[in-house]
Amino acid sequence: MPTIDELRNLLGEDSVSVAKDDLDAHAGDWSPRLLLDRRRGTDLSPPVAVVRPGAAAEVGRLLSWAHDTRTAIVPFGGGSSVVEGISGHDHVVADMGRLDHISPLDAKSRLVTVGAGVTGPQLRDALAPGGFMLGHEPQSHDISTVGGWIATRACGQLSACYGGIENLVAGLEAVLPGGRVVRSRPAPRRATGPELTDLMLGSEGVLGIITEVTLRISPIPAERAHACVRFDHMGTASRPAARSRNPICNRPLCASTTARMPSCSR
Ligand SMILES: Cc1cc2nc3c(=O)[nH]c(=O)nc-3n(C[C@H](O)[C@H](O)[C@H](O)COP(=O)(O)OP(=O)(O)OC[C@H]3O[C@@H](n4cnc5c(N)ncnc54)[C@H](O)[C@@H]3O)c2cc1C
Repeated sequence: MPTIDELRNLLGEDSVSVAKDDLDAHAGDWSPRLLLDRRRGTDLSPPVAVVRPGAAAEVGRLLSWAHDTRTAIVPFGGGSSVVEGISGHDHVVADMGRLDHISPLDAKSRLVTVGAGVTGPQLRDALAPGGFMLGHEPQSHDISTVGGWIATRACGQLSACYGGIENLVAGLEAVLPGGRVVRSRPAPRRATGPELTDLMLGSEGVLGIITEVTLRISPIPAERAHACVRFDHMGTASRPAARSRNPICNRPLCASTTARMPSCSR
């Protein structure tokens, strides 16, 4: 079991919380089983502490200590995971909310560098005055973070045009288990591997903690239209969806859906 004094010595008194409300709020995510357990009043195995590192170096100290003491650290972005990504026993939750810096955007290269704890609304509000957007809008946009998007390889309703989060990451900084801070520089493309960014995409926090990300941004389109089409059955939806093309970029709207559809409609 981790001792709270050790954590306070590592990160400072204010960055370590053992308040019951805080532990309960970080005990789980939005996955159906945990939501049902919460509704039934079942205890969710809260962490022994919630820590809030404010810099990559602090995450490094935390993971080095965790390695030495064999303590499980669960990174927490917005907590909107639906696959029990936020759970554990005798673990410490690292809430990434203090890593919320946003650098001035680079309009020429169309890049912006942000802390992993930046939320969807924070990013949108920082990019919009310059006429830019990310083009990543999962339905959990308002309650999730950049680090969480990468750790879960997220996509959203604009992904048919702008790509999933894997297409929008130009480079990142992460802290490996053991505490080493590593960084992949933003580049249009790399010809060597294995690539740090690829390893972190969809890693669910098991390969390290993402601390900073450089994202590819796009100009806000002059027009934006929303439409909703209702189908009675997945099978009847698949054929028109497969033929549909995005009116802005003319890419197929449902390329991946088409590929998966035969097994879905059975
Ligand atoms: C209402 C609702 C709608 C949703 N819609 C979509 C959707 O349209 N598309 C979609 O893809 N998903 C969707 N999701 C799922 C979820 O929102 C995404 O998986 C999202 O990317 C999680 O981000 P988060 O910041 O909340 O991460 P969290 O839930 O906090 O964490 C998710 C996982 O990533 C790890 N993690 C978090 N931050 C870091 C970090 N900095 N470094 C390393 N690991 C980290 C956690 O340990 C956990 O394993 C939805 C969820 C809800 C509740």
